[in-house]
Amino acid sequence: MQTTDTLDVLRMQIKNLRASGSRIGLVPTMGALHEGHLTLVRRARDACDHVVASIFVNPTQFGPNEDLDAYPRQLAEDAAMLEAEGCALLWAPKVREMYPDGFATSISVRGVSEDLCGKTRPGHFDGVATVVSKLFNQVRPDMAFFGEKDFQQLAVIRAMARDLDFTQPHADAIIGVPTVREADGLAMSSRNRYLSPEHRRAAAKLPQAMKVAIAKIEDGHDVAEELAAFEAELLNAGFGSVDYAELVDAVSLQPINALAGAPTRLLVAARIGGTRLIDNMAVLPRSAEKG
Ligand code: AMP
Repeated sequence: MQTTDTLDVLRMQIKNLRASGSRIGLVPTMGALHEGHLTLVRRARDACDHVVASIFVNPTQFGPNEDLDAYPRQLAEDAAMLEAEGCALLWAPKVREMYPDGFATSISVRGVSEDLCGKTRPGHFDGVATVVSKLFNQVRPDMAFFGEKDFQQLAVIRAMARDLDFTQPHADAIIGVPTVREADGLAMSSRNRYLSPEHRRAAAKLPQAMKVAIAKIEDGHDVAEELAAFEAELLNAGFGSVDYAELVDAVSLQPINALAGAPTRLLVAARIGGTRLIDNMAVLPRSAEKG
């Protein structure tokens, strides 16, 4: 695996990878890699000839009171994991390579980025859309792989690629990969390592309580009542606050208050011991219920 932090070198390396008409899959990350990230790499490897992974802790997607400085950085360890997964190239630029003096552009995707995490993390998705559009232009992959763990992020990136007529990758070649979970159901996240043992145990209540709420909603119980009960359950389990718990249309991310036929998702963000956790799961429309 080759590694570079320099754009000129990256371009040359990408050109070499492409020489034989090979297809390139991109996996953007912020590092501190876990099985979730590595699953994206495996999906990319299955679908493409070469995998390019990026590691960049993007300052513009962190708010002033967020964990930019504390965010775990372990480049050598990450590089070894990527190499073991058969990654061809690691793009790990420094902040100044991505944002040189005079950098002045920001991409803002209206609508889909405004609610949910967009409300509690103002500017976050502008930072994400801008850095991902740069990564797309730098690598020009045939396909790009993102986790459904960050469901709203995936929707924002697809909307950006569609609206700005990206062809490398085309919006349809932006692949969402199902969330990889720990044995107790907690969605894997680089931020889970911030949790104390006690909070880590309590954090497993998040996916458990989501499943209970989803089963009730699928059975026809009142959505607002079940979401209120779900929030109470989290607070009872030791969560400090719930940023949001919403049932939304899986494409538009608009809130819905009763199940219809369209794909639907429960999206949640909640805080425990100063760590903000997000999760989401599919909710089956009533017509798709078993029996
Ligand atoms: P991050 O390093 O947190 O920015 O994540 C990089 C990519 O990995 C994003 O597309 C995430 O959605 C994806 N990802 C993070 N955690 C998981 C997980 N538990 N399962 C699947 N994908 C994930």
